Amino acid sequence: PSFSDYLREHIRTVPDWPAPGVQFRDITPLLQDPKVFRILIDAFVHRYMDHDRRPDVVAGLDARGFILGAVVAYELGVGFVPIRKKGKLPFTTVEETYELEYGSATVELHTDSVHAGSRVLLMDDLIATGGTMMAGKKLLEKLGAQVVEGASIVDLPELGGSTRLRAAGLDLYTLVDFA
Ligand code: IMP
Repeated sequence: PSFSDYLREHIRTVPDWPAPGVQFRDITPLLQDPKVFRILIDAFVHRYMDHDRRPDVVAGLDARGFILGAVVAYELGVGFVPIRKKGKLPFTTVEETYELEYGSATVELHTDSVHAGSRVLLMDDLIATGGTMMAGKKLLEKLGAQVVEGASIVDLPELGGSTRLRAAGLDLYTLVDFA
């Protein structure tokens, strides 16, 4: 199988979770298998260890972006910063609110987490509408950082998020699509 197919085989689809009609793409089986976990992480590390793509810091989106982002940052020898759901970070923060299908969500970032001019790799497990990654990009830019690329395991292209993010000037790297 292709690399995408290999990863896709290790992603579990859970119907009607967290709400009726939703097909939840569960990436935990990828992490659970030590060989698949290593191959997955290495795909990101090999891309971002190249001199022209190497970030100064990796930012991870709450919560599965923490798992991926922290390991990739460690392997690249750079720092990791978490972008968290509102109310979790103890120090001063910048925040960004974005619309969900029902209601809204707010994410926060510590004001001292990145320097102005820093090149940041922004990571999450999955891009759906793109709202979460867009909010992360805006937070990093509020602090003067430059998001060099957004990376996730899964893209759901039919939801239009990856198209919207690219139209907003964010380069994206994703490994698996689900139609
Ligand atoms: P978006 O903001 O609509 O792009 O949704 C992406 C965010 O919601 C990411 O942080 C994902 O972790 C989470 N998410 C949405 N749908 C799924 C799914 O099917 N599987 C795993 N995470 C999901």
